[in-house]
Amino acid sequence: MHLLRGAVRTYAWGSRTAIAEFTGRKSPTAHPEAELWFGAHPGDPAFLQTDDGEESLLEVLHEDPEGQLGNVALARFGDTLPFLVKVLAADEPLSLQAHPSAEQAAEGYAREDKLGIPVTAPTRNYRDRSHKPELLVALGPFEALAGFRPVARTVELMRALAVTDLDPYVGLLADQSDADGLRALFTTWITAPQPDLDVLVPAVLDGAIHYIRSGKKKFAAEAKTVLELGERYPGDAGVLAALLLNRISLKPGEGIYLGAGNLHAYLHGVGVEVMANSDNVLRGGLTPKHVDVPELLRVLDFTPTPEGDLRPETVTDGMELIYQTPAPEFAVSVLTIEGEQLGHEIDAPARHDGPQILLCTEGSTVVHAKSSTLTLERGSAAWVAADDGPIRLVAAQPTTLFRATVGI
Ligand SMILES: [Zn+2]
Repeated sequence: MHLLRGAVRTYAWGSRTAIAEFTGRKSPTAHPEAELWFGAHPGDPAFLQTDDGEESLLEVLHEDPEGQLGNVALARFGDTLPFLVKVLAADEPLSLQAHPSAEQAAEGYAREDKLGIPVTAPTRNYRDRSHKPELLVALGPFEALAGFRPVARTVELMRALAVTDLDPYVGLLADQSDADGLRALFTTWITAPQPDLDVLVPAVLDGAIHYIRSGKKKFAAEAKTVLELGERYPGDAGVLAALLLNRISLKPGEGIYLGAGNLHAYLHGVGVEVMANSDNVLRGGLTPKHVDVPELLRVLDFTPTPEGDLRPETVTDGMELIYQTPAPEFAVSVLTIEGEQLGHEIDAPARHDGPQILLCTEGSTVVHAKSSTLTLERGSAAWVAADDGPIRLVAAQPTTLFRATVGI
């Protein structure tokens, strides 16, 4: 077991304070810090803090795949860590996006390879062969758009905005209140000529302004989000697409699971994200980056989904809260040590075999593994090799610890 030094990713939508404060560094930082990666992604692996200095987790896995990953994970996923843990801090909205299924990713990767598009090219959609299911758990209030809202409510929202230019589209959805209706409408908008969007998007923003000024509450959050996105990306079809998605507010500890084809955009907040170790993103707007509309349309799942269906069920097992997600690449739980447990050594065996990444988000705990003992403070993480578990914990103060393992 070793402490992990995560890799900080600076993107424009990040925060100058959140990740620095979380990890106990000086803030505000020179650049917005968007993500802190704990994993073995070739693009930015984490580093183990050993007595002999730092060693890349990527290299450690190559040197001792069986001991680090365990036989089960090794047989299933090869000598790589199948999941990636991130702390994500969004001060501004991220792009509208979706991720492919495993089959689509394998097929898309092969196709783009055949076309000779370099893996690092900005026009490349598929950078690896994996799907990218993701679970986000809020650390503070977290705002997001995700999944197509059940159509009746979207029709109600669009009517509430009272925008004449929207009437034909409201009619389309009212006549066909299912996935096919959503596909038809989304396709119309995302392929609309720019001059049309330059009329429709400002009209929708006017509607949102009027709605907010009217003091009505029902769709106030939706109207505000549309307005914010429209101010940032004028004339962008993604602003219209935002009308169709669930507007989700998470409280600390609440999560959403985004499977293949789910259209989503994180808007604001700090959270822990665990995903399959992949970089495959199809964007749908709200970004200056490459948008491949035909490929996005192939990948998107237009099934109307109530917000509640995106929230994973949780089960409690002692001090462990388990988020039940279907992806074989990862399993996520939160260990809370408090009350009578403080000061006592507690067994904390993982429910799954394989390696563990532990991330302390509150308090501080001593972690005992087979080979060693260390202390995890808020903002720090540890790597526990498959052959180094199970772990035991001792905390003197209320402590929250995220645990990511392989999901099989
Ligand atoms: Zn995503």
